[in-house]
Amino acid sequence: MTSTAVPGDLAAVDTLVAAEEERFLARMPRSRALLAEARGSLVGGVASSWQSAPPQAVWVTHGKGSRVWDADGTEYVDLHAGFGVMLVGHAHPVIVEAVSKRVALGTHFAQPVPDTIVVAEELARRFGLPRWRFGNSGTEATMDAVHLMRAATGRPKLIKVEGSYHGHHDHVQFSVYPTLQDAGPEARPNTVRTGPAIPEELAALTVIVPFGNLDAAARVLAENPGEIAGMLLEPAMMNISIIAPPDGYLAGLRDLLHADGALLAFDEVKTGCTTGPGGMTQRSGVTPDIVCLAKAIGGGLPCGAIGATEAVMQLVEDGVYEQVGTFNGNPLTMAAARATLTEILTPDAYAHLERLSARMAEGANRILRERGVEGHVAALGAKGCVVFRTEPLRGYRDFLAYDDRWGHAHWLYQHNRGVFLPPWGKCEQWTLSVQHTEADVDRYLENLDGFTAQVGTKVGS
Ligand code: PLP
Repeated sequence: MTSTAVPGDLAAVDTLVAAEEERFLARMPRSRALLAEARGSLVGGVASSWQSAPPQAVWVTHGKGSRVWDADGTEYVDLHAGFGVMLVGHAHPVIVEAVSKRVALGTHFAQPVPDTIVVAEELARRFGLPRWRFGNSGTEATMDAVHLMRAATGRPKLIKVEGSYHGHHDHVQFSVYPTLQDAGPEARPNTVRTGPAIPEELAALTVIVPFGNLDAAARVLAENPGEIAGMLLEPAMMNISIIAPPDGYLAGLRDLLHADGALLAFDEVKTGCTTGPGGMTQRSGVTPDIVCLAKAIGGGLPCGAIGATEAVMQLVEDGVYEQVGTFNGNPLTMAAARATLTEILTPDAYAHLERLSARMAEGANRILRERGVEGHVAALGAKGCVVFRTEPLRGYRDFLAYDDRWGHAHWLYQHNRGVFLPPWGKCEQWTLSVQHTEADVDRYLENLDGFTAQVGTKVGS
């Protein structure tokens, strides 16, 4: 950051978005044809609503190492990483071998397989929680966490952070991305359902607080005596760019909740294994009662995991809460997770990720400074993003005030020049993989330089 930075030019951003969207569509006739064909049977032409970002979904044919290829044959440096899953990179030889071996031995029995023990032991070592179960997605992991907190305390209510996404089950589908009009007072936000699929009646069971504000959490506990089962939060927010927790926040929450007889659950679906070997749990030194994992732990296969204390998991042991699922601990997933955790995500791999991350952050900050564009890098481990404003984002209200057009324009610009970032620009962040190289990082930086040259207001000019 620089004291001489001035705001970029939003009119220039608008002009750029129009030109880049046109270029984007012109590059992808095959993706457009596939989309038209898909619309006949596939709702919106995609398998999941967030696979379609404007101006159009990109159809991908294959990936190898740090690269992916679209249906029109264009090669990209992949920093989307399937919404942060592909920390191992694409078609990693160790994953290919582990999964191929497993396929030949049968892929599903709904019975435990030995790999599951290795994965559970490794997660216990990394996250400092002794007992584990598996599922198939982040949504299932956070749903189990909410159920377990209620079962453990006999209390109904959940504390949730404004602007956090924890998957699509009912009790976390409140105040995900509310409008400013609906959101209410900043220190005491309204509980806003995401839409008519979620019954308004459930709003009374989810109490919303701003991120980073211990007083707000203390107030909610005081105002709901004996009713709060626990709090579910991302220990670093990762769906409104990246927002690290203020010093002492996570430990403070743990102490407040425990003093009240309530539990603390970390949603490490995005942060787990990407911010370090034991995620934010290890990084912060604050061990929650429950940790939820998914995404990167499965090496590219659908997975979810939940770890907890002996006391919490005794409820599962005793059948008070039946943690179940036909595909839980699927052999193919477990083979990939075992390979990921024990063979690929080694200390050397983390050192490589930290080196690349430092190169990204230093390079991007330098470019912003040289181009005189307001902005800074927010990065944690393998994940990071450029935020096109000088002040760091502290929570959802700052995120709302941060213009959407910056992230979208940057995403388009990078995409049109061979770098695939996750869509929904200002919400998301890059994920580096163990197979990325310095040349991949430099490609991103070169594009950022070109982008800021077009939209920045050069100091002194
Ligand atoms: N929690 C967080 C923080 C997430 O970002 C997501 C998905 O992006 C989820 C939970 C839900 O995970 P899944 O999409 O695997 O259900």
